[in-house]
Amino acid sequence: MLQRKLTKAVQVGSVTVGGGNPIVVQSMTNTDTRDIDSTLAQIHALAKVGCEIVRLAVLDEDAANALHQITIASPLPVIADIHFDYRLAIKAVEQGIHGLRLNPGNIGARWKVQEVVRAVREKELPIRIGVNAGSLEKELLEKYGGPTVEGMVESALGHIHLLEEEGYDKMKVSLKASSVPLMLEAYRRIHHLIDYPLHLGVTEAGTVRSGVVKSAIGIGTLLAEGIGDTLRVSLTGDPVREIPVALEILHVLGLRQRSVELISCPTCGRTQVDLADLAEKVEERLAELPPLDKPLKVAVMGCAVNGPGEAREADYGIAGGKGMGLLFRKGQIIARLPEAELLEALLREIEEYVLAHQII
Ligand code: SF4
Repeated sequence: MLQRKLTKAVQVGSVTVGGGNPIVVQSMTNTDTRDIDSTLAQIHALAKVGCEIVRLAVLDEDAANALHQITIASPLPVIADIHFDYRLAIKAVEQGIHGLRLNPGNIGARWKVQEVVRAVREKELPIRIGVNAGSLEKELLEKYGGPTVEGMVESALGHIHLLEEEGYDKMKVSLKASSVPLMLEAYRRIHHLIDYPLHLGVTEAGTVRSGVVKSAIGIGTLLAEGIGDTLRVSLTGDPVREIPVALEILHVLGLRQRSVELISCPTCGRTQVDLADLAEKVEERLAELPPLDKPLKVAVMGCAVNGPGEAREADYGIAGGKGMGLLFRKGQIIARLPEAELLEALLREIEEYVLAHQII
């Protein structure tokens, strides 16, 4: 088991972040927040695949006004992401959100910070301080000659102290950068200095290929060092794709048991079926499954010679052959079927399992 740093616990709606609680997976909608239906549809899609907290960009008053309806209907705690405008922050709090992402040093006069703190204090809402290497304060860029670890940490501490001076300590902190070495060092440095929960992420990580690699290395390395309480994998495009990646990072590190796992063989000279296509179709179906009370392991193997044996631990699996294939359960063959019927037969077994183990 990884030894995790114990941070303060912060409540975000029904979800507790930090304090040794399971690491929380979050994402951000990319719909127009003013479009309540589209935003709620995306929040539901995110919740379905395992997202636990969702963040929404609040760009103007109309977006802030939409938050009431969204928050009431959302299955996930809602964080309002606000830059510069303290009035939007206060409006969002009034609408019933569960947390703010706001850098108090960026909203101007001290009395504005006090107004925001007064609003969140009443409802005990957390504020995430989100430092981003790409938007560091001008003075810090000049002082350190560009975005540096020192500048990021100084920026975060400045925002933190502003809230602390107002007697407020319900906060989470992130220090994101698109450079993995930079974010790694910034998080390492700050975790020695504060005990607020850390929200991990590599910002502007990119499209699926580079984004997955950057996030796995950046977020995964910190988690392996015991740093981090919540995370967001950032990928360009549909945020729903971020969640399986986030869950996979946690699973690989033994920090979260995955409810569904697909094993597929690498293929070799014995493979006589289109295994890649079969595995993709099974993966697509597994990605849609609801949460289960018992982990489900499915294997898609290329041959009947080694397949069932290699996937003995799987709950269900198929092993391709020439013109036919095997359906197996826990390494035992339960049917020999024409190749064309294999996929459907496996999916039927999975449906039965889901009916028995679905968490309602
Ligand atoms: Fe090759 Fe069969 Fe192993 Fe797949 S399961 S890699 S086809 S031996």
